[in-house]
Amino acid sequence: MNIRCLSCGHTIDLDDAYSDYEGQIKCYTCQALLAVKMSDNIIRSVNLYRQAAADIQEEEIRGNP
Ligand SMILES: [Zn+2]
Repeated sequence: MNIRCLSCGHTIDLDDAYSDYEGQIKCYTCQALLAVKMSDNIIRSVNLYRQAAADIQEEEIRGNP
């Protein structure tokens, strides 16, 4: 499954572990964070969570329980 980064337009390749996933994904190209929601191998929503910036600190990329 592929998601297009809303910040840089690069395609992010996701493996099957993301076929049913809700949370954040980091674009490897521009380091922007995308908030995605997927189920049944279908992308339900993609939102730009945080624009890429040089001074972003690493955060836990996990949804809250
Ligand atoms: Zn990007």
